Amino acid sequence: MNSLPKKCKLAEQCKKCGSQSVVKNGLVRHKQRYKCKHCGYNFTIRDAIEKVKPEAKALAMLLYGSG
Ligand SMILES: [Zn+2]
Repeated sequence: MNSLPKKCKLAEQCKKCGSQSVVKNGLVRHKQRYKCKHCGYNFTIRDAIEKVKPEAKALAMLLYGSG
């Protein structure tokens, strides 16, 4: 009895095993948390914007350039 649509906008998948058999499992810090039905791994969707600090970027550039 599988009524889940195969092709939809849902793109959440387990970060551990890559399975898309995930279910909503509450909220963590206002983020939707999911649980993998395949391996039981809990994770949140990566909707967080990765803030790149200018100095960190500069340092990376520096390290890259000096290598
Ligand atoms: Zn999994």
